[in-house]
Amino acid sequence: MEIFKALAEHDYEQIVFMHDEETGLKAITCIHDTTLGPGLGGTRYWTYASEDDAIKDALRLAKGMTYKNAASGLPIGGAKTVIIKDPNREVNKEAVFRAFGRFVEGLNGRYITAADVGTTEREMDYVFQETQYVAGTGLKPGTSGNPSPSTAHGVYVGMKAAAKKAFGSDSLNGRRVLIEGVGKVGYILAEKILGEGGQVIAADLFEEPRERARALGCQIVDADDLFSIKADIYAPCALGATVNDDSIRHMQAAGIWVVAGAANNQLEEARHGDLLDELGIVYAPDYILNSGGVIQVADEFNGGYNPVRAQKLIDNIYNQIEKVFAIAERDAIPTYQAADILAEERIAAVKHTRSIFSQNSKSIIS
Ligand code: NAD
Repeated sequence: MEIFKALAEHDYEQIVFMHDEETGLKAITCIHDTTLGPGLGGTRYWTYASEDDAIKDALRLAKGMTYKNAASGLPIGGAKTVIIKDPNREVNKEAVFRAFGRFVEGLNGRYITAADVGTTEREMDYVFQETQYVAGTGLKPGTSGNPSPSTAHGVYVGMKAAAKKAFGSDSLNGRRVLIEGVGKVGYILAEKILGEGGQVIAADLFEEPRERARALGCQIVDADDLFSIKADIYAPCALGATVNDDSIRHMQAAGIWVVAGAANNQLEEARHGDLLDELGIVYAPDYILNSGGVIQVADEFNGGYNPVRAQKLIDNIYNQIEKVFAIAERDAIPTYQAADILAEERIAAVKHTRSIFSQNSKSIIS
């Protein structure tokens, strides 16, 4: 792989390779853009087929974080780490993650890490032994805990903004919402919708979440027969790529006018975002809607987590989604493209302020 060519392609700032033979650490941190603030993004611990695959994953995920953080209104840039997991080597996780923590400390705040696929609060606790630049550790004073309730709240307010666009009112009272996946986020989302007088039709692969949702007052449908009941809103809260040719056809038949859920990468392909747009189905872009968790985590860096302050920014997801709809209308483009433009315009606007002299950023006198 030609690294500098790959960095130039999407204007990446930095890629850091970290190696520690003794612990077995092989990590790649990619910092995509720090115009708005330090790059924040989780650490993925994963086995890759090749080093190129690991680098590509870090690059792709870091760029995604720039867009997510920018479009959700955070003063935070985008970055991500992948730690390559060697299936043939038994490692001591504490040693690996403490070694990683020391490298993160060396980046001196340009990068803040958190948990992602393959890492949990426990690994972040190890990282915290070596650096302050970590979120989602249970050991740090002012830690914010489980992000799922914040994610669910963001999806809820974003869904209301999307309902307003589709139906002329943001009230979910009387609306029928189909939630696919009633796990950590989907369950709390269901609670909120029911609390507002909406009806929830829920599907899940497993009996336990289904039972919990039923007890809450949801109507349960078979996961294989998701769109068998008429509904107004589809909330994908399980896996990605569930908005595709097949599901869109079923959505139409079920009378769905809004897609608004927590899952990452909901569109199987970009063209499915175009198709929703052509059919007049309002799509609330996934990475803005599900940014409540990262907003919560980022708030830890304002001198410790303050739930009231974080809640304000999570509530603001409503406005960010409305901005997306306004850009989509202005530029006559689908909403998934408008979300990217919202992020890019914010970064471009702030970049300009960097050209104004300040002692802090430009002085050679000190
Ligand atoms: P979770 O694992 O707690 O819940 C997902 C639920 O979906 C599970 O109950 C699972 O059984 C169910 N499921 C899986 N496949 C299904 C299928 N085909 N049909 C129906 N149900 C299915 O995960 P979560 O934390 O609630 O996250 C949900 C989604 O939101 C994920 O895509 C996740 O990446 C995304 N997300 C979560 C957060 C967060 O804070 N938890 C933040 C951002 C994005």
